[in-house]
Amino acid sequence: MNSPPAPLFAPTPFAAQARLAAVRPADYARTRNALDGAVTHLSPYITHGLLNLPQVLAHVLASAGQQQPLDLQHKFVFELGWREYFRHVWLHRGDGIFDSLHAGVLPDEAYAQSVPEDIRQARTGVPAIDTAVRTLYATGTLHNHARMWLASYVVHLRKVHWSAGAAWLYAHLLDGDLASNHLSWQWVASTASHKPYLFNATNVARYAPAEWHSPGSVIDTSYEALDRIARSSHAVASITRGEGVAEPSLHSAPPAGWPINKPCTAPQAADVVGRDVWLVHPWALGAPPASLPAGALCVAMCWKSFHTAWPWSGARWAFVGTRLASMAQVCWYGDAGELAQALRHARSVHTVADPHLTAQLKAMVSGSALSRPQVQAAPQLFAEVNTACTSFSNWFKRSTRASKTCADLPGLAAYPNPQAQLF
Ligand SMILES: Cc1cc2nc3c(=O)[nH]c(=O)nc-3n(C[C@H](O)[C@H](O)[C@H](O)COP(=O)(O)OP(=O)(O)OC[C@H]3O[C@@H](n4cnc5c(N)ncnc54)[C@H](O)[C@@H]3O)c2cc1C
Repeated sequence: MNSPPAPLFAPTPFAAQARLAAVRPADYARTRNALDGAVTHLSPYITHGLLNLPQVLAHVLASAGQQQPLDLQHKFVFELGWREYFRHVWLHRGDGIFDSLHAGVLPDEAYAQSVPEDIRQARTGVPAIDTAVRTLYATGTLHNHARMWLASYVVHLRKVHWSAGAAWLYAHLLDGDLASNHLSWQWVASTASHKPYLFNATNVARYAPAEWHSPGSVIDTSYEALDRIARSSHAVASITRGEGVAEPSLHSAPPAGWPINKPCTAPQAADVVGRDVWLVHPWALGAPPASLPAGALCVAMCWKSFHTAWPWSGARWAFVGTRLASMAQVCWYGDAGELAQALRHARSVHTVADPHLTAQLKAMVSGSALSRPQVQAAPQLFAEVNTACTSFSNWFKRSTRASKTCADLPGLAAYPNPQAQLF
């Protein structure tokens, strides 16, 4: 097996469309667990709203055609479901997803609160981990299996609290999503599942190219031995090896790499006075809402409160900033109060919601009453489930109860002709 080529993510609708056109659902179902399997690499586009789940499935169904209709139980549909399930949990638990959902194999206090330097610098001496960290820094993404290995090693072998690992990984991903990321770490840690997720060198050798293989390392052992380690409060010894790699710096404001032709300023009323405003933000980089008045001014907004809590790598700022600057006439970075003040002077404001910005958009709506912001709901593929579900299977059963086939999923109603309506 050769290493998969490093995926490149251009922040453009064309690049998103090309990724979508390349999706092969049958190959995906057969090979998705392998690091060089036919996974889609759609997540940075989905996370940042260049694509939404209804668009993705509508397009894949249209490409598959009548010859190979996709079953509701298809692996690809399930995986899109996991994304929406994690959002369902976030909606019901709120900030509770940042704490352990229930007790795990050890009490929270048994784990360290920071990720050790040798892990951050890819010098653990375990090739599967060091290659994962290098890949993460170089590409801003990581295959799902590699994310599971990395999280399992960090939590169960090195005894680092899942929340510290989650914050570190989130910051370096191009597709970092607080629900998918934090709840996946909790699933690995066993605070959102019934047992710890463990992996060994044999598992790595089965699914990854040669440079990931880790014979003779701490993970080259049985599952029984790994389970004992996970349930003991002693971390495995670190055997720091090699030169490692410098961790890319993180930024809580647009860094120097932000497109220089559109510098970010604080929100200013003068920019928008009397105008219809289409407010775009890092989670809404897609097409404008159908209800947008002609001639609306596109304004890009990044909220200081969010980015101070959750800083991003320069690569993620570049991905988001390049797209925002190509869409917007004006770019703003500031707090919710400044935004609300500025928008009071607009004629109307139109934007799309996202759970990362629930508090910020609420503050915008209540503070800029004069321009009556219209906040369109974040697009959903599956039916809303009002009861809080604690398992994916329960949520999936409920959310697809009224659907016989994929085509019946409620989110698809908005995309009767996906090829024509994509962008
Ligand atoms: C520890 C850990 C952290 C993770 N952090 C994130 C994150 O921050 N953001 C993120 O989008 N996903 C996260 N995931 C889920 C998953 O790893 C990525 O969605 C997937 O690897 C993205 O690559 P892809 O687009 O090629 O996925 P594909 O396998 O091609 O799947 C297509 C789409 O389905 C969704 N999807 C697939 N698998 C999952 C899954 N297990 N959970 C949720 N959605 C899924 C994604 O939107 C993805 O783009 C995490 C998983 C783990 C184990």
